[in-house]
Amino acid sequence: MTNRLVEGPRRNSGIKRLRKLRTSLAKRGLDALLLSQPENLRYLSGFAGSSGWLLISGQNAILATDFRYMEQAKRESPNFEIIQTKRELPDWLLGLVSDLGWHKLGFEANFVSYESYHKLSEAIATKQVNLELVPTTGIVEQLRSIKEPEELGFITKAVELADAAFEQAKAIIRPGITEKEAAWEIEKLLRQERSEGTPFEIIVASGSNSALPHAQPTEKIIHSDEPVLIDMGARINGYCSDFSRTLFLGKADKTLREIYNIVLKAQTAAIEGIESGMDASQADQLARSVVEQAGYGDAFGHGLGHGVGLAVHELPTLGSSSADSLADGMIFTIEPGIYLAGKGGVRIEDMVVLENGKARVLNKAKRDLLF
Ligand code: ZN
Repeated sequence: MTNRLVEGPRRNSGIKRLRKLRTSLAKRGLDALLLSQPENLRYLSGFAGSSGWLLISGQNAILATDFRYMEQAKRESPNFEIIQTKRELPDWLLGLVSDLGWHKLGFEANFVSYESYHKLSEAIATKQVNLELVPTTGIVEQLRSIKEPEELGFITKAVELADAAFEQAKAIIRPGITEKEAAWEIEKLLRQERSEGTPFEIIVASGSNSALPHAQPTEKIIHSDEPVLIDMGARINGYCSDFSRTLFLGKADKTLREIYNIVLKAQTAAIEGIESGMDASQADQLARSVVEQAGYGDAFGHGLGHGVGLAVHELPTLGSSSADSLADGMIFTIEPGIYLAGKGGVRIEDMVVLENGKARVLNKAKRDLLF
């Protein structure tokens, strides 16, 4: 077996990320961590392929992937030792682990399938390998939740791109076109502005469809006197943005105008009130109490927001049952909504970064009632 001592990624950020991870592994008494969650792989190694494994120990940084990704791995992760996987996980992993003398191997409990875990456990027993599999959750996700300046730069670009596409989309979305047509126009605009695809399916939901928080665009024709909820995002260098507005192309009726103003007030209360060090559940309550006091508490059935980075949904989670706490460097959405079944819904979503203890809004798009 060759010497597997590897320095880690060349770039400073990569080295820092590995150092933090290694501290965390030492604290947990793990010899190494096995990772396969794609965004975690990209974060630690730069590898953006959709299939592969990382093995990180105090001294080793190994990227294991199959034939299809070997060239990409060498290009994207020059400071990792690249090995080509053959057949199934136990076939290449167990020999490697024995050679390196690891006995406690952490794995991502929320990402490794039951089947993979089962096969690996069986092989460990059959081959009598002295190896304990230790389930872990959120180790790298915690690191990812605090953004570095370079990451803030990419996310800011993705936010600007979504803002720019939305500005142009407002001129295209007119009564008479369908939700699907509107979604396609927005997708074209995002691509024209050089977004790397779209990080999630664009939502265009009009009329009573807007009361479904995660509606899919349909063949329904958009009419002038109904709300149009748009939820869209862009991606730059792997980093996402997430953004929603509710438009009124004609006149909004009284109830919808009322809920719009409540949602806006709730969002403003959160933006102004959020502070570093605060529990994420407390942040959620800042907006929720505004909605509750207005009598619409039951109609705000999702959390206030979520972290955004390499994944559209990542830590922190801003919701009433969240155990996360907020810290400088976190980037997340603030997106209260009120949804009235059969009538329509309103959501306003912006992204913020926590800096010097306060939230700074990254989006520039206007938030007032849009006609
Ligand atoms: Zn969102």
